[in-house]
Amino acid sequence: MSLRIFIDPSLSSFREVRYVFQIISGNKNIDIAFVHDGSNSDFKITPGPESDFAVSSAFYEKIRHGKFNFEEHFINGCLIRDENGKEDLISTIFYCINSLQEYQSASDDGLGRFQYKNSYQYKYKNVLVNIVQELIDRICEHPRLKDISKRNRKSKIFLTHDIDSIHGSWKEDGFHALKKLQPGKFLSVMLNAAIGRPDWLNMDKVMKIEDENGFRSTFYWLLYKDKRNADYHFKSRSIQNQVAMIQKNGWENGLHKSLHSTSFREEIAELGVDTNGNRFHYLNFKLPEGYSVIEGSGLKLDTSLGFTEHWGFRNSYGLPFMPYCLAEARVHDFIEVPMQVMDRTFFTKRIPVSEIKKELIDWFEKNRYNAVFSINFHNNFFSELKYAGYAELYKSLLSYFRESGFEPTTQKELVNEFYRPEKFKLADNP
Ligand SMILES: [Zn+2]
Repeated sequence: MSLRIFIDPSLSSFREVRYVFQIISGNKNIDIAFVHDGSNSDFKITPGPESDFAVSSAFYEKIRHGKFNFEEHFINGCLIRDENGKEDLISTIFYCINSLQEYQSASDDGLGRFQYKNSYQYKYKNVLVNIVQELIDRICEHPRLKDISKRNRKSKIFLTHDIDSIHGSWKEDGFHALKKLQPGKFLSVMLNAAIGRPDWLNMDKVMKIEDENGFRSTFYWLLYKDKRNADYHFKSRSIQNQVAMIQKNGWENGLHKSLHSTSFREEIAELGVDTNGNRFHYLNFKLPEGYSVIEGSGLKLDTSLGFTEHWGFRNSYGLPFMPYCLAEARVHDFIEVPMQVMDRTFFTKRIPVSEIKKELIDWFEKNRYNAVFSINFHNNFFSELKYAGYAELYKSLLSYFRESGFEPTTQKELVNEFYRPEKFKLADNP
């Protein structure tokens, strides 16, 4: 039986409130019906005191006037409150899940990306907390929702690899070997490069590690070659062999959208293999424009929503979701799969590999439910010179997942499970 919710059509936030309940419906796997008559509902959302949940009208007023900064909305902790000081769980979910804090945010990053230091997660030290899930669970404490409040889904693992460089090994690993006085290793790297078998052309090695642990992954390819993008020709025979082998073995390929001004459609056409998904090179996108561009590409999955500077939840939510298009008051036609973990974050922060493993496993243990962990390990981190220790880290994380019951998932499975436009396509006029 579906849950009957009445949302007062006079609420200026009618569509946004409805979107949040559609998210909850997906999260708890319940059917929801929006009814036109308050007296015939399980609970109701209205502007008055009889509302089952408070909704701040000032919040929507502010965002419609372009005030997105979290300091406007999170006065005392990460929670929006209504005019009477009552907690507004619904608007807080809406604000966090759609990353509204990033809209029009100033940035001194070279690419203009949103920066961790400017986030509420940094200020309130809660980047590792699945805040949206906690709020959904609180909404489900409502007496009419009690039997579904304990519904949880087991967390899954989505393994991914951005392929930025194939030919960098002789420079990076070679230099590293020389610095560490390892002439044998230096020669081996140089020789492999010379015979056209560079050390970072290692997708077979990566797949073998994954296969041994029952995992499949996705490789994201750059289609544009220049100093800031690929150092390989995607159409070269050696790369095409890898792409074909990935597909043949049941792994997946995806687009790693370049920094170059070529369009998504041009790069997808160039990719030439079936794909659902994208991740932006350097996680280079801005909101809300980035979501509109992905939607325009026709792809059904993007997995770029992560902080480069810290592992954790960039939109305080653990699961893939369909983002809301605020300008057009509708849902976007794709799923965003937030990316929580990337090798380079740890490398840049010079965190010892043994410490990374401990930090991550502690965090995964706290999030055994209600997350899909999108994990990005670049191919070059599997070579044992400059990035020594990372291949072992990867292996040990995979065996931890296998032993602890975290199941693998793929692009295709995520689209099947979370791309549910029919849940959002309801009559717009109540
Ligand atoms: Zn990249």
